[in-house]
Amino acid sequence: MPDNLSYEQRHKAMAAIHSISTRPELKLRLALWHRGFRYRVNVKLLLGTPDIVLPKYHTVIFIHGCFWHGHNGCKYYTIPKTNTVFWTAKVARNQERDQKVWRELEAMGWSVIIVWECELKKTVFDNTIERVVSRIKLNGEKHQAEKEGRRAARKEYLSNRKAQKKREAASLKEAKSFLN
Ligand SMILES: [Zn+2]
Repeated sequence: MPDNLSYEQRHKAMAAIHSISTRPELKLRLALWHRGFRYRVNVKLLLGTPDIVLPKYHTVIFIHGCFWHGHNGCKYYTIPKTNTVFWTAKVARNQERDQKVWRELEAMGWSVIIVWECELKKTVFDNTIERVVSRIKLNGEKHQAEKEGRRAARKEYLSNRKAQKKREAASLKEAKSFLN
């Protein structure tokens, strides 16, 4: 049936577009944008291609589908009754990969926020936004404090070095005057 086929193809094409910018993801982005956060999306250069990247806050956000990424205890994560072993193994592999990505990004200095798709449903959306926003701000403050800490340490090091040189110069002068 050619009509069915073209429908299938259209459906496939739509699904492909959908996977680039899924609706829940857009909702989250828009909410963050309205709160004044600026971000980049789908940054391929970063490990795991995070959905949202907030460079100023050293924060990346992943929006995880509850089934594929295995949202433990979530009603949307139920292993099908058939091919149970296959699905369990598949989701476990995804979970493992997610954790690896998460750990490596953290090692690179990024804070990682995971948002589950079920957390973007209408009834809980506002709560989720609150949680995400406070996490982002906290990360920003943490990053800022670290930056200031490094700056202060550098300043102290430089002034110590300067004082040391001054002392050396003074004792050299003293030694010279003693020789004269
Ligand atoms: Zn879930």
